[in-house]
Amino acid sequence: MKKIIIGENIVKSFGVGNEKQIVLDGVSVCINEGEFVSVMGPSGSGKSTLLYALSGMDSIDSGQVFFDGKDLSALSEKELSDLRRTKMGFIFQQPTFLKNLNILDNIILPSMRNKRKSAKEIIDKAKKLMKKVGIAGLEKRDFTQVSGGQLQRAEICRALMSDPKIIFGDEPTGALNSKSAQEIMDLISDINTEGTAVLLVTHDAKVAARTERIMFMLDGNIVSQLELQKFNGADLDGRIKKVTEKMQEIGI
Ligand code: ADP
Ligand code: MG
Repeated sequence: MKKIIIGENIVKSFGVGNEKQIVLDGVSVCINEGEFVSVMGPSGSGKSTLLYALSGMDSIDSGQVFFDGKDLSALSEKELSDLRRTKMGFIFQQPTFLKNLNILDNIILPSMRNKRKSAKEIIDKAKKLMKKVGIAGLEKRDFTQVSGGQLQRAEICRALMSDPKIIFGDEPTGALNSKSAQEIMDLISDINTEGTAVLLVTHDAKVAARTERIMFMLDGNIVSQLELQKFNGADLDGRIKKVTEKMQEIGI
């Protein structure tokens, strides 16, 4: 199985001297192409920091991260940002859209830096994605004029504009009610079924239960993993039970 991400012995700390805090303590991870993986762990265990390290959004103290065969530390800032823009998509808990742009313009903004595509091609693609995720017609609204679930769908559109190899989600359903959260998870599952790898940070056993492998973090390390099959819609309750049992066993 081809790997999209290989992280080896990642160490990351914040602060200096007595204040120094090791947040990632020699973490090693592999994500296969097309895999659907989640990260669980208590608040402060290093989940977000791991996501930032694996996506090259943040530097690391030592260790290595290979993305699609490329050593991130060997890339220039420009190469790194191009790689993120073309091969990775991001969805966060809190909206990251700009207030003064409408939904469509927010979705296409990062893609407008792609010189090989015309504005028309980019807009057509954005509209197609908006239709696919169920928010066609909201192009001209600003983000105060849509619901939290609709905004998260729009953020997913933006993440998909470059046909990324992987989507990183940091608690992407954390700010949603349970119905919207479930709809967004259905959408993310569909995207994964179409071949995009997904790495999700979540607190929610119901979310993690839809992924095929769960990595459990404690104090800056992955202390355990749970392998499930790819979710095909069957026996979600049984999967949730496995996840919660594992959480209890580890003590999170
Ligand atoms: P999680 O996502 O699991 O809740 P984080 O990765 O956000 O945890 O944070 C892990 C630890 O690192 C926390 O103690 C947090 O305070 C610290 N931390 C995260 N980002 C920074 C930063 N930019 N500066 C200083 N400390 C940070
Ligand atoms: Mg976090």
